[in-house]
Amino acid sequence: MGIDFLLTGAGQLVTCDPGLGEGPLGLVERGAVAAAGGRVLYAGPEASLPDLEVDGGAVRVEAGGQAVVPGFVDAHTHLVFAGERADEFAARLRGVGYEEALAAGGGINRTVRETRAAADADLEAAAAARLGRALDYGTTTLEAKSGYGLTVEDERRSLEVLARVAAGSPVEVVPTFLGAHLIPEEYAGDRAGYLDLLEHEMLPACAPLAEFVDAFCDRGALTVEESRRVLAAGARHGLKGKLHANELGSTGGAALAAELGCVSADHLLFCDQEEARGLAAAGTVAVLLPGTSFLLRTGRAAPVQVLRDAGVRMALGTDCNPGTCYCESMQLVIALACVHGGLTPEEAVLAATDGAARALGRGGRVGRLAPGAACDLVLLAGRSYLDLSYHLGVNLARLVVKGGVVCAGDGAGVPVGRGQPAGAGP
Ligand SMILES: [Zn+2]
Repeated sequence: MGIDFLLTGAGQLVTCDPGLGEGPLGLVERGAVAAAGGRVLYAGPEASLPDLEVDGGAVRVEAGGQAVVPGFVDAHTHLVFAGERADEFAARLRGVGYEEALAAGGGINRTVRETRAAADADLEAAAAARLGRALDYGTTTLEAKSGYGLTVEDERRSLEVLARVAAGSPVEVVPTFLGAHLIPEEYAGDRAGYLDLLEHEMLPACAPLAEFVDAFCDRGALTVEESRRVLAAGARHGLKGKLHANELGSTGGAALAAELGCVSADHLLFCDQEEARGLAAAGTVAVLLPGTSFLLRTGRAAPVQVLRDAGVRMALGTDCNPGTCYCESMQLVIALACVHGGLTPEEAVLAATDGAARALGRGGRVGRLAPGAACDLVLLAGRSYLDLSYHLGVNLARLVVKGGVVCAGDGAGVPVGRGQPAGAGP
């Protein structure tokens, strides 16, 4: 089989594989990428491109000296919901707190009511539109949670909607069951009753449609003991663990995620040295959601120096949701991770690609441009990955490629052809 995708002329090729180039991002000057069947065969200097047979119908991209990065991996979204909460957002801007809004019948409970009332087609169209926007901004792999249904039927329906949306998109969607997003209003006086329902009816119905189980372990949501029960029950159904941990306080979520060996612990606005050492020892990835902490306007970001010192691997996600961060752009998240979250541009790009892939159990398969990995990449309208944190609020994705296929981007001025250019070798 010959190669069916060839990109040449990348002024800066960001492989996110330190073995392939300079520094932690594995930077290659004047780089090329060759792929076959959706997988990278070669990524490195164009001058060292091996003599590969090029298929007649191969996709050819001439990058014209622009930078190329791996397709972004969004490690945390709540993609399936009905109703938006711009009014609550505005109230927060006027000084009403998030927990106050929750207590007043807003917050997650409100989205649960609207999601339950929505028709399948409307739920699906809204989620598909969000996924399309994510792709336009360079996301090629995306995690998405249920969690606004909170009945057996509605949680299953959210995951079914997600499966249909995923089937209609080139983006690889990683489904997570989040029936433990909140104890729903109707079970306020019977928390154990809801957890019984979740364990004995919801999980059997939903687990076949999910890869991960997650719980919102925090003040106003689930306790540590309740979260432990949910994750253990999920594990019995073959689901890997994730946890919304330590967003609103030092509420024990980070320690629980480490104890259970979760693949990721997400948010972590509060995390001390001991908790960070626990996460590092367990190999649990810290998923940072700087869009959310920025929009909550508490001035607090995850303590990255504590995480760095402990050697915790970091990932990024948009947390796309109707309450605390309505955003599908990993480009904006990279910028906020730097200007608000305290990451270096290199850490942010790595966290949005290879780090996020690890937070989804896909390390080495996506999130880097190296032999054997998926040929998922973004050709930037810029000469350096630094533009992602520097050039704010515009879409820098000129061309988005998933599995060696051009899927999005206006491609303005980018020669995309087929087969051999005139005068090229065999
Ligand atoms: Zn979340």
